[in-house]
Amino acid sequence: MYPGPVHCQGSDSPPAAAAYAWSCTHDDGTPVRWASTTIRVWTSGLTAIQSRALQDAQQQWSRYSGIAVAPAASDGAAQVVVTEVPTLDAAPSLGPGIIEYALTSNQWSGGYYTHSSIQAANLPSLGYDDWLDTFLHELGHVSGLAHVDSPTEIMRPVVGAPQSTYGSGDVAGLASEGPR
Ligand SMILES: [Zn+2]
Repeated sequence: MYPGPVHCQGSDSPPAAAAYAWSCTHDDGTPVRWASTTIRVWTSGLTAIQSRALQDAQQQWSRYSGIAVAPAASDGAAQVVVTEVPTLDAAPSLGPGIIEYALTSNQWSGGYYTHSSIQAANLPSLGYDDWLDTFLHELGHVSGLAHVDSPTEIMRPVVGAPQSTYGSGDVAGLASEGPR
């Protein structure tokens, strides 16, 4: 069943005053979601620490999103492509003095998400804990979650002290975006 046109909030939208929020919805208010229960991931240029953090983040994300993760044979065969870039200085800014660790953009077709690209900045000062939090957050965006105000959710706009697990709002949000 075609779920109808897609409307997305702008990247400069303020964080929602809710436990979770959707980036893109249909006319009937339901979230845009992935149709597939398995997505293939291609990574390029990640450091060993980033790779380990991404693996661990994917496991947690799969548990709550209901989407299994498998390696892609090539970038062209991947639904999610994760690349390391020298810097995200040109990315939409979260505010003065805030360094962008990573950036996710989603594509959709026929009312469903079809591709995501995650760019992770080359920031050698960041450790495993920072990257685990960052990839949990970016995978939340892959699911279609938007930023929220609450400092205890992974979908807060700015990392601060790193968190190693999704919050209860994140978990409810990921479940609400599950494929169906
Ligand atoms: Zn974000």
